[in-house]
Amino acid sequence: MTPESGAVRARRRPPQHLADLTPPERAEALRAAGHPAYRADQLGRHYFAGLTRDPERMTDLPATERARLADEFLPELVTPVREIQADRGSTRKTLWALHDGVRVESVLMRYPDRTTLCVSSQAGCGMGCPFCATGQLGLTRNLSAAEIVEQVRLAAAEARDGALPGGPSRLSNVVFMGMGEPLANYGAVVGAVRRIVEPPPAGLGMSARNVTVSTVGLVPAIDRLAGEGLPVTLALSLHAPDDELRSELVPVNLRFGVEAALDAARRYCDATGRRVSIEYALMRDINDHAWRADLLADLLLARGRGWVHVNPIPLNPTPGSRWTASEAAVEAEFVARLRRAGIPTTVRDTRGADIDGACGQLAAEEG
Ligand code: SAH
Ligand code: SF4
Repeated sequence: MTPESGAVRARRRPPQHLADLTPPERAEALRAAGHPAYRADQLGRHYFAGLTRDPERMTDLPATERARLADEFLPELVTPVREIQADRGSTRKTLWALHDGVRVESVLMRYPDRTTLCVSSQAGCGMGCPFCATGQLGLTRNLSAAEIVEQVRLAAAEARDGALPGGPSRLSNVVFMGMGEPLANYGAVVGAVRRIVEPPPAGLGMSARNVTVSTVGLVPAIDRLAGEGLPVTLALSLHAPDDELRSELVPVNLRFGVEAALDAARRYCDATGRRVSIEYALMRDINDHAWRADLLADLLLARGRGWVHVNPIPLNPTPGSRWTASEAAVEAEFVARLRRAGIPTTVRDTRGADIDGACGQLAAEEG
């Protein structure tokens, strides 16, 4: 199945940015532009440790060259268009304009024990899941690594500067659960993850364990990610334990079925030692039946114990959609059955749902 793609006309790539490059590539790029190679680390420290692209603050660079260096290697890639808050400011959705006017969203959430950013990896998405607002847009284009890292850098600066209630905080978690299918934009996503976890001046120095890549289940890409030596958490969006229903909810299931996706998830755990999350958006009378909870438990247990946990997500209704969340008692029974089978299960909160900032609601609308 070929996902619908709107990216037919030729597009201008985003301008070159330090965060697209590995440290050796940066040194080379600086040299090629006529600068000493060590400027790469100086710029890297300002950007990844200082969280700034403002040349005025780069006082260790020659005054005559600061502006040019920032301009050439740290160009503005994402510009805030609008920010909407919920939960008394502790959830903030930002609409960003990219260099070509394309729009994406990210959501910053402060919890008592952590601050999490939900980032976009593509503008729109080509996977066509019918219950997801992003899926209804189709794919506009992939984001570059630096366009993803910029979302993280700006959120980390906001949190540090006390934009969230409760005072300054440290951005601790990044989840690839915004717009797009991260593993359909593999190179840029892995590049962004490396920039997020490598210590300054190479990257932001966040813990790989606190980075979650959520996928619809692109099996070859899951196996490839398992071999990157990046112990990020993998979330597999399953939503149904049987191929008949899953193929309706997640059309890519026609290529990679339930069993194949779960086998890849299990291999991912073996390779990385990271427990995998199974995402299951509970939809009333669609996939919330007790027998489906039992079947899900059987499929997971058939692959061993202790390698997986389940995150049921109450469906966030999207405009005009015929899907709604399960009734409370039905959700409770679904969870209870999984737990009784010995599978750790935690219902995901729906932070931001009232500002269309929750999972599956991002559509980057104007207005
Ligand atoms: N494309 C990736 C990551 C982005 S979506 C993926 O599908 O995994 C992040 C999560 O939100 C996925 O588990 C997705 O299935 C879920 N989701 C999509 N639409 C939703 C909705 N309307 N309500 C609740 N969860 C939804
Ligand atoms: Fe794309 Fe994920 Fe939405 Fe499916 S659920 S359309 S893969 S963003």
